[in-house]
Amino acid sequence: MAHKLPARGRPAAEVLADLKTFSSADPDYRHGRLWSLAYYQDEDYAAFLGEAYSAFAGANGLNPTVFKSLKRFENEIIEATAALLHGTPEVCGVVTSGGTESCLLAVKTYRDRARQVRGVSRPEMILPVTAHVAWFKASEYFDVKVRLLPLDKHLRADVTQLERLINRNTVMILGSAPEYPHGTIDPIEAFGELALKHGVPLHVDACVGGFILPFMAMNGRKLPLWDYRVPGVTSISADLHKYGYAAKGASTITYRNLDILKHQMFVYQDWPGGVFASPALLGTRPGGAYAAAWAAMQHMGKSGYRDLARRTIKAFDRMRKGIGQIPGLYVMGEPSGPLLGYGSIDPDVNIYAVGDQMDAKGWQINRLQNPDGLHAMITAQHLEVMDAYLCDLRESVATVKAHPELAQAGSAATYGMMAHIPLRGMVKNRVLEMFAGMYKAGGAQMDLHAASGPGGAGGAHPGTLDALVERLAALYVTWKQRRQA
Ligand SMILES: *Cc1c(COP(=O)(O)O)cnc(C)c1O
Repeated sequence: MAHKLPARGRPAAEVLADLKTFSSADPDYRHGRLWSLAYYQDEDYAAFLGEAYSAFAGANGLNPTVFKSLKRFENEIIEATAALLHGTPEVCGVVTSGGTESCLLAVKTYRDRARQVRGVSRPEMILPVTAHVAWFKASEYFDVKVRLLPLDKHLRADVTQLERLINRNTVMILGSAPEYPHGTIDPIEAFGELALKHGVPLHVDACVGGFILPFMAMNGRKLPLWDYRVPGVTSISADLHKYGYAAKGASTITYRNLDILKHQMFVYQDWPGGVFASPALLGTRPGGAYAAAWAAMQHMGKSGYRDLARRTIKAFDRMRKGIGQIPGLYVMGEPSGPLLGYGSIDPDVNIYAVGDQMDAKGWQINRLQNPDGLHAMITAQHLEVMDAYLCDLRESVATVKAHPELAQAGSAATYGMMAHIPLRGMVKNRVLEMFAGMYKAGGAQMDLHAASGPGGAGGAHPGTLDALVERLAALYVTWKQRRQA
C-alpha cells in the first residue's frame, strides 16, 4: 500500500517514538560491530553534536552574506583545516556537504580551469585504480575522461606509469591519502614532481585521512608527505564527517590559492530571481552540519583528535598484526592506517565465505574486489572489540577451510560472481536494474509482493541488497551453464 501523509498531524512524542523504533533495524554502530560508515564516540558526544546541529538546523548558508554565523563557522573550519594540512596563508576553501561533493567540485574546477586557461576541450584526468568511486562519478557527471593509473604488484599506484598518461588534455592528477580500498597513501611526492614538471594540478583526496593523518604524525607516527608541504599539490579534500567526528553532511575542499578556487564558483547575473553566486554544488547549505562540524573541532581540539588517533592506530596495529598471524590471510598493500583490506592466499579459503561467517557472528564488513578481500575502516571504539573480532576471524577462516563448499553459498557466491564474471557491462546493467527496483514507485513495500518468479529473490527479504545479490547469483549460474553448454 502506498504510504500517505497522515490526514491529521501526530503528536511530536509519538513521532519521535517511531523514529526510535525504526532505528532498531539499523546496524549496531554504537558497539563497534560496523566497519564502515559511522564514526561514533559515545552518547554524550552524540548528544553534544545533536545539540549543536539542532541549534542551527534552520539556518541556511546559501547566501554567505546573510547568516553571518555560518560564514564564520566556514571561515574558521577552513582556516583550521588549512593549518592542519600545512597550507600557506593563501590556502582557501569551502565547507561542503561531504566527500563526494568535495571530489566532484575538484573535477569541475580543474575541467573549467583547463578550458579557460588552456582551451582544453576534451578533458581527461588521471586516477589511480584505487581512487574513490566518487571520482568515477565525477567523470560521468562532468564528462572528464578517466586515464587509469595501474597498481604495482604490491597494490600501490604505479608512479612509473604516470608520466606516459599525461597529455595536453590532462586537467588534473589525483592521489589519495590514503586510498579507500587498502589504506595505502599514494606516492604524493613523486606525483607532485611530475605534476609540477608538466604544469598539471594535483588533487589529494584526504577525505578519509585529512582529520587523522595529521594527528598520527603529531603522535610520532612516520608518514610520507602528502599535504601542502608537497609543492605540486594544488588542492585537498578532507571530510569532517569521518575522522573529524562531525555530524553527517560536512567535508572541506581547500585550494592552494584563490585563483584556482575561483573556477569552482558559479555566477549567474541575469536570473529574474536576482543576481546569483554560489561557491559549491548545493543551493541551500545546511547550517546544522556546519555548526556541528565547528563544534566538533572546538570540543575535540588537537588533544582530543590526538587521543582518538592514538587509540585508532593502536587498534589498527593490533588488527594488522592479528590478521598476519592467521594462517592463509594477508594484509593488502601498505596501509598506513586508519583502514586496511585483507584477503586470502590459501586457495582453500574463500575470503568472501569468511565474510559470510563474520556476518553470521554479527559483524558488518564491506567486501573488496580486484583482488577479493574484506575491508575495515578502523575507529577508536574498535579498540575494545578488536580481540573479539580477531578471535571470530580466526574461527571463520577455520570453518571455511573445513567447508570449502561455503564458497558456493550465500553471498560469497554472488560477490565472487560479481567480482569475476568477465561481462562487466552485464554486471553493470543488472546492478542498475535491481538497484533501480529499490526506488520504483511504492518503494520497498511494493517489492514485497513482486519479488518471486524465475530468478527471483529466494529467501532474502525482497527489495533488499541481499535479494539483489541472490538474483545476481542465480544469473551467474545461468551464465556459467550457458557457457559450458
Ligand atoms: C569517503 C570517501 C569519499 C567520499 O566521501 P563521502 O562523504 O562518502 O561522500 C571520497 N574519497 C575517499 C578516499 C573516501 O574515503
